[in-house]
Amino acid sequence: MKIIEVEALHLRLPVVQEVADGTQDCLLVRVHTDVGLTGLGEVVSCSYVARAVIEAPRSAPFRHGLAAIVGGMDAADIEAVSQAMVDGTAWYGPGGVTRQAMSGIDMALWDIRGKSAGKPVRGLLSETAVDAVPCYASVLWPERPELVADSASAFLDQGYRAVKYGWAPMGPDADLDEALVAAARDALGPEVDLMVDAGRAWDAQTALARVERFQKYDLSWLEEPLHPYDTAGYRALSEASAIPIAGGEALTLIEEYEDLLRNGRMQVVQPDLGRVGGITRGQRIAELAQETGTWVVPHAFGTGVLLAASAQWAAASRKPLTEFTRAPSPLAQDLAHHSMAFRDGLLHLTDAPGLGVELDERVVETYRVG
Ligand SMILES: [Mg+2]
Repeated sequence: MKIIEVEALHLRLPVVQEVADGTQDCLLVRVHTDVGLTGLGEVVSCSYVARAVIEAPRSAPFRHGLAAIVGGMDAADIEAVSQAMVDGTAWYGPGGVTRQAMSGIDMALWDIRGKSAGKPVRGLLSETAVDAVPCYASVLWPERPELVADSASAFLDQGYRAVKYGWAPMGPDADLDEALVAAARDALGPEVDLMVDAGRAWDAQTALARVERFQKYDLSWLEEPLHPYDTAGYRALSEASAIPIAGGEALTLIEEYEDLLRNGRMQVVQPDLGRVGGITRGQRIAELAQETGTWVVPHAFGTGVLLAASAQWAAASRKPLTEFTRAPSPLAQDLAHHSMAFRDGLLHLTDAPGLGVELDERVVETYRVG
């Protein structure tokens, strides 16, 4: 089963706002094989740059893109393809955008492996995978605390049992920050899990001061309070914080996760399968997290392709939970047709083979960047 084509599908809304919403533009990968099976994957990156990493034509040794590297390889041998992508990009890799672009191809190959075996991806990862994955609604903070109640009650009406708010306006003003968290807890009530994503707003000392103010609102975790590579800061904070500390979505390489987990000591780690090298490398991070006793919850703020991959992967993990972005972008909500059904806080999965996801070609045509 040979790889005959790697398509990079770059989609973008006509008007993009400078807010922390990564669903205004996306890069999907469609891998075609000579037996007619195709697979879908997603890259979470700067899409223009990652697209070039996939499409760059052959040049001097090690200077061409991933499509040129994997073309003609056996789609069933994912480990070999993964290693070839690492080796073949040594001139400009291995981390950052190179690893992010690899993620889309790896994910697509897992989709193909599942279709070939007639099994959902979670069935390839574990014999004890669950069929329903708890998920949490994930959105940006409304602009003012007074607006949080409407948003929160809409999530309650829809049946969510866990909600995460994040990023601006949280950050510079401690009183405003506490008012946001208080409004969310007040509106959600005591039974629903509440997580807060600080969006890398503080240093360790400021973050600890916020923890003291947020403590009474019973947060399940405080996410990315610090710069992604501030390992020493994460260690100081994680050891002192009464609220579990989460992070890691920005990292790409296993070595970076090893440093963050062993030395940063955070309680929850959030690899993004669209950034770390796909499911293959995600499994290595999960093994590492098992060694350090860290809970793995995938970061998944993208299209339905990333959602499906993350849900399948989480279903096979020790303590399943996944992020479910409720960002309003049509790329997040309408682009991918999948068979998952949300009910009572859970994503109910089916036995559709592979990732169980297909693209709406009309949405692709509407938003595709030429
Ligand atoms: Mg985050």
